[in-house]
Amino acid sequence: MQSIGHLIDGKSVQGGTRSQDVFNPATGKAEKRVLLADRVTVEQAIASAQAAFPAWRNTPALKRARIMSNLKVLLEQHADELCALITAEHGKVLGDSLGELQRGIENVEYASYAPELLKGEHSKNVGPAIDSWSEFQALGVCAGITPFNFPIMVPCWMWPMAIACGNTFVLKPSERDPSSTLRLAELALEAGLPPGVLNVVNGDKEAVDTLLTDPRVKAISFVGSTPIAEYIYATGCASGKRVQALGGAKNHAVVMPDADIPNAVNALMGAAYGSCGERCMAIPLVVAIGDATADAVVAALRVEIGKMKLGAGTQAGVDMGPLVTQQHYDKVVGYVNQGVAEGATLVVDGRGVKIAGFENGYFLGPCLFDNVTPGMKIYQDEIFGPVLGVMRVKSLQEAMNLIDAHEYGNGTCIFTRDGEAARYFTDNILVGMVGVNVPLPVPVAYHSFGGWKRSLFGDLHAYGPDSVRFYTKRKTITQRWPSAGVREGTVFSFPSSK
Ligand code: NAD
Repeated sequence: MQSIGHLIDGKSVQGGTRSQDVFNPATGKAEKRVLLADRVTVEQAIASAQAAFPAWRNTPALKRARIMSNLKVLLEQHADELCALITAEHGKVLGDSLGELQRGIENVEYASYAPELLKGEHSKNVGPAIDSWSEFQALGVCAGITPFNFPIMVPCWMWPMAIACGNTFVLKPSERDPSSTLRLAELALEAGLPPGVLNVVNGDKEAVDTLLTDPRVKAISFVGSTPIAEYIYATGCASGKRVQALGGAKNHAVVMPDADIPNAVNALMGAAYGSCGERCMAIPLVVAIGDATADAVVAALRVEIGKMKLGAGTQAGVDMGPLVTQQHYDKVVGYVNQGVAEGATLVVDGRGVKIAGFENGYFLGPCLFDNVTPGMKIYQDEIFGPVLGVMRVKSLQEAMNLIDAHEYGNGTCIFTRDGEAARYFTDNILVGMVGVNVPLPVPVAYHSFGGWKRSLFGDLHAYGPDSVRFYTKRKTITQRWPSAGVREGTVFSFPSSK
């Protein structure tokens, strides 16, 4: 069985005595084993990043950026290989893997603009013959900890910009689907990154805790579930680090009575069931305004669900693959059972599906609940599976009150033809990313990504312009060169331009 190790100082390294199976979710077979780095192995990666920092920090920004341009080309050339690795361990369909890869490439492309983004601010004559400027300096060793659901895209939110800004990096990918992330890092070396600038350690809590407490690590980016995000934020901050920790989500889609229902339902289908619902921007809840809207949406969803094709992510024409692991499958099925027990109406039941040739895969068919109410666990919790719930309310304000009261505030959207309602919604809703007739309002690489409330701990959002600020510290310099021979008197009052 193939053993997956780490990438430290430009070399493939086997470190740690513990390991765990990596499954193919379509077959249910353990096809690889990933080594789980111990503290010593992670410290080796941090030491390598620390040693590489002085030379990398002083490498001209344009030279650093060119490596990102090289990497973009390599990622495009290796697209089939990378997508096959994602699908083999995550389970998502190949077309979805390609979408993820493309979004990752766009982050690499944005990082190649770093010389422009790092130009700083300059003011001449802020006082008599005094000039002042602000520059953005690299922090040192930064670390990233990433979730299973986007093994290429989410790491690309982090290290390309961190590295383009002059930092060095230690990445700890998800232990559930580590191969594509590791291959991405190998391609970054091939693109020209010197050894030690980007290191990858596979592992679990032991690796993460080492990164969180080692004083050489200056900043931590995390994406994953909310309980872990909160732990990362508290522990990292207590260790004096800069931390951004993006957490879970429960995104509501509001459907107004004037919406174009067939278009809204098409959009909802992809947003609810694409990637088997394992997206932090997925739509697991529809809030329909009025019973007539709800009836029309539920009826149309039922028809569209009937047309869906389930299967292995590698099979042609498949819309939805399996869930990531047996453990996650059990959790999601548990929520479907709970929804029934709580009194929601199960309109479409995806439990018990079997895919010919893939009988041991973690397949759950699309599930649709009607009459979901705020007191239910299936409303409150992030399920992270192909389970869509419909709620019935009487007004837009009632829908907005519901969304605002939810603990998560990652994404939301409204389907309507009414510009006034859409503007009121986007202006006032307590959510970080909002769509109008756009079900997955994931910002493009040159905007930043982040939720509100318990979907993000920290101040700055991921990627885009915020990432340049996150991965640098501002230094402001004030400079005067007095003319030779001119003597100036002592001034005791606070300097000002009065
Ligand atoms: P997870 O929280 O289980 O794991 C994320 C990372 O944390 C992994 O690298 C894992 O090894 C590590 N980890 C897990 N338990 C830990 C512990 N006790 N101590 C230290 N580290 C630990 O998340 P997941 O299941 O891999 O990913 C799904 C979650 O990620 C969902 O909640 C989803 O909403 C969220 N997510 C959020 C965003 C976003 O941008 N907000 C994007 C993608 C995924």
